[in-house]
Amino acid sequence: MNRGDKTNMRLGFKLAVAGLFLSLCASASLAQVSCPFDATDTDRLARCLLRPVRRGGNLGSTPATLPAPLDALIGKPMNVSAEKLQAHLRARGINEADLGGAFVFRGGRFVNDLTRARYFVFHDTSFPEINAPDFPADINTASWRFNRLSVWLATPTPTHVFVNRLGESATKANFSQNVNGTKYDSGRDAPPGAERRRRAAARAGQFIHIELVQPRRKSNPRTFFDLGPTPGMTAKQLDRLALLYVAASVRAGRWLLPAFHLAVDSPLRDAHDDPQNFDLDVWLGSLRTLLSDVEAASVVPDGGGTDTPLGGTVSAGSLSAADFNLPEPTAATRGERLTLWSTFYHVFPARQLDGGQPLLGTNGRSLGASVSASDWCNAALEGTVAVSNGAGATRTFNFSDRGGGRQLDCSRFFPSVARATINALARTRFEVARGAFGTGVRGMALVPYRSIAVDNRQRPIPFGAVIFIPQARGKEILLPSGATARHDGYFFAADTGGLIKLNHIDVFSGTNARNPFPEFIKSRETGTFTAFFINDPAITARLTAAHRP
Ligand SMILES: [Zn+2]
Repeated sequence: MNRGDKTNMRLGFKLAVAGLFLSLCASASLAQVSCPFDATDTDRLARCLLRPVRRGGNLGSTPATLPAPLDALIGKPMNVSAEKLQAHLRARGINEADLGGAFVFRGGRFVNDLTRARYFVFHDTSFPEINAPDFPADINTASWRFNRLSVWLATPTPTHVFVNRLGESATKANFSQNVNGTKYDSGRDAPPGAERRRRAAARAGQFIHIELVQPRRKSNPRTFFDLGPTPGMTAKQLDRLALLYVAASVRAGRWLLPAFHLAVDSPLRDAHDDPQNFDLDVWLGSLRTLLSDVEAASVVPDGGGTDTPLGGTVSAGSLSAADFNLPEPTAATRGERLTLWSTFYHVFPARQLDGGQPLLGTNGRSLGASVSASDWCNAALEGTVAVSNGAGATRTFNFSDRGGGRQLDCSRFFPSVARATINALARTRFEVARGAFGTGVRGMALVPYRSIAVDNRQRPIPFGAVIFIPQARGKEILLPSGATARHDGYFFAADTGGLIKLNHIDVFSGTNARNPFPEFIKSRETGTFTAFFINDPAITARLTAAHRP
């Protein structure tokens, strides 16, 4: 979203959920046998954790054998490379940041950063609770408000990742952070005290938690919300769950043990009854397909070379040199000539500061990001802020409104700003942007050094058009990761702004506040340069895909 255009984003609804999210996963009480966590027989433990979850908190029997393809994975050496998985993700425009966090590389080599992880726990949210004879007809569509991931990220639910019924995911906590999502991993199989603390500490980091969005109903008026839809999860939800499982296992360097929440916590008192109506066979099918797709993915060399296949896509959160590797235009693809002048704009960058000033949403609840007081005040003034968590994941927040109470007095950072403005800033509330670096027109995600803002009358450059600026080609750019790349000269009209008129374009530089292209960005009307429209369907398709949130 460009400066001065904050009107098109607004959640448009409020949640009446206070407190309810704290108790996700309805309770059940049936006591059954606990799994042999401390035994050395991994096969027996893995099978025990896959006991099917039935209605009312009952468990089915332990499978006699570990089902395929898990039988060929669990306990065997990791056979999927991070590079192949990244190529698979790039080709589908999926952002690692939405899969529990970016992969970690040191000195160009992939590092297993989840060395303690052992279990991968499936949950259903058991929410919202529907007091009606049927589930709403639209629970598997984008119109259902609980398929908005921003809604879930704003809740205090202890989990790593949420997956909505459209198969989209969002990271609440990096897989590398300890999250207590079960009674067992919090040590609650021991009474309160030193032994409970000892067990919780010993189990810290071993459990990865995934919440699958699933509403509940009551099977009869006297019971709790015990009924899930049938099937409990959509096929796309299970596809994304398979991808999350592979991503976590690759980062761990070993195949994690998939586990149903109830199977982990049984027979503890008040163990949760989730996930309901989970079709393990469908998930295993997703996993099989995914593993063969990843195996077939072709790894694109990072940097150098001009033979990058054009079929792939990139996601804004994980740009690499290979994403700026498009070949030079030819006489056939070079279209009409343009004379333009340019400015540039960036998103204010901030670092996540645990215990800092939280960014609040329209409903007055934290959006799950907090920053220093100085960063908060600058974000309120700028209207957009990109918060990085230091583990490679960036989330961008846009100004939403100035409702609610005063949060912070920014006068000490802006001593010359009028009191009325300071009072307004104090009540700034935000919303989650769709792309890692913010949202442009038509819901497109902004991509650093690729997106440009153009006149909103779309003259002379329409939204979605590709232009080539010869003076940008070969210029060094600083990527959000800190790496550098050579720009290929192509730009994409994905944004607009009230001050952008006619042949003026505004180049988006991500979180980089310095002029990325002093060669042609002169920030004055007389500082014109030459550009060309590009008529190349392969390049247009690739840049369109790169701007998909
Ligand atoms: Zn659960």
